[in-house]
Amino acid sequence: MNIIQEFETIAAISTPLGTGGVGVIRISGDKSFEIALRITNRKDLPAGKICHGWVVDNDVKIDEVVILPFKNPNSYTGEDVVEIQCHGGVNVVRNILDVVLKNGARMAERGEFTKRAFLNKKLDLSQAEAVDDLIHAKTSNFAIQSAKNLSGVLAAKINEIKGDIFQTASRIVAGIDFPEDVAEVEYSVLVEKFTHSLDEINKILSCAKSSDILRQGVKVAIVGRPNVGKSSLFNALLNLDRAIVTDIAGTTRDIIKENLDLGVAVTLVDTAGIRDGENIDKVEEIGIEYSKQSAQEADLNIFLYDASVGLTSEDKEIYNIVRDKTHIVVANKIDLIDINDFKEELPNTAKLSTYSAYGLDELKGKMRAIVCNFSLEDTEYITNKRQQSCLLKSKEALERALFAAKSEELQDMIYIDLKSALLALDEITGEVITDDILNNIFDHFCIGK
Ligand code: GDP
Repeated sequence: MNIIQEFETIAAISTPLGTGGVGVIRISGDKSFEIALRITNRKDLPAGKICHGWVVDNDVKIDEVVILPFKNPNSYTGEDVVEIQCHGGVNVVRNILDVVLKNGARMAERGEFTKRAFLNKKLDLSQAEAVDDLIHAKTSNFAIQSAKNLSGVLAAKINEIKGDIFQTASRIVAGIDFPEDVAEVEYSVLVEKFTHSLDEINKILSCAKSSDILRQGVKVAIVGRPNVGKSSLFNALLNLDRAIVTDIAGTTRDIIKENLDLGVAVTLVDTAGIRDGENIDKVEEIGIEYSKQSAQEADLNIFLYDASVGLTSEDKEIYNIVRDKTHIVVANKIDLIDINDFKEELPNTAKLSTYSAYGLDELKGKMRAIVCNFSLEDTEYITNKRQQSCLLKSKEALERALFAAKSEELQDMIYIDLKSALLALDEITGEVITDDILNNIFDHFCIGK
């Protein structure tokens, strides 16, 4: 049975502030109905019924609205909730929120509605996090994956693993507490059980890379020495004049980022040219450092050099930064030479002219093939960094238990590791959670969610 916790009544605008068809003000808490009746011309608000009425403040009609009353526990938060649908103008929704606040509600904090849903056990923590993912999804694919977690796919898998570990832990405890009545669990059984649980955890962790990429998108950095045409390529890929193109070396000093849709969300990073030399000022030096860092962090590097000059020693140094990472080599300014004279100096070099757009579609195709491959590897279980770190903690504890079982150590000791493994999994679903972690999660939500 759900235990509904008592909190102050809160209210917020749940729709984006802007001009639109409808705006929604949400009220949650035990005074919701009382407040809604006070601020509208309604005599009653039957729960579960769509009600029509006017919001009235001191005899002034504020707006004609539709009111959706929900009685606890049958609401999003598990508390009494009243949602007021009004006309979607910035000032209309603000006026209604003001009236609600004047009549006894307090302004909701970020994510407070979902936090209450979690505390009232309407959602577990992995589902609450999925709500935030769904709202912020950068691609339709990630939104679909987040909806899977909202429906409880990850929670169900975690609970299944927890159930297995819990069962083994209980058998160990029974053997310890009642040695005369209950036989010690055979070590071969323990090895088999722990191996199975580890396999299941690894199954989720194997989707971590895909999860990260689906969530954040793929980072693609364009690297090369100054003047090889990085900014020109950046603009050509984005079809805009965002980066400054000049023939003065070192013009792109900041990292410039833009989002590009290649089926997967791509963050394209135009880096300051990487070069060595004496005439480098402090600002450019910082830019160069950032560029090296961007190249290290990128999921895919596009290494650019000037085909009319050929691969210089400076180019080779930059190539060394990216050669062991996923990369595409591009010889730019191919328009400056006779294409038949081009000699490939590095394998699989793509020929390009950002001037004539020669080779641009082919390069985009290569990029698309690589980034789509990144994200589609394994997406059965989508996790975030917090969940991944809990899974790793649980995995380490289980590995210790497995090692101990193989070495036939005392089962009391194995039990301690199993408890740690369970605790880490409990953190994912939120059975065990500190206020700090909780606040950290819900502080990222928007107000009204
Ligand atoms: P970055 O410093 O690597 O970002 O290079 P830019 O994009 O600023 O380009 C440097 C110079 O090369 C500019 O004068 C561009 O117009 C020129 N450039 C860029 N791409 C091409 C190209 O494909 N062909 C030719 N001929 N010139 C190019």
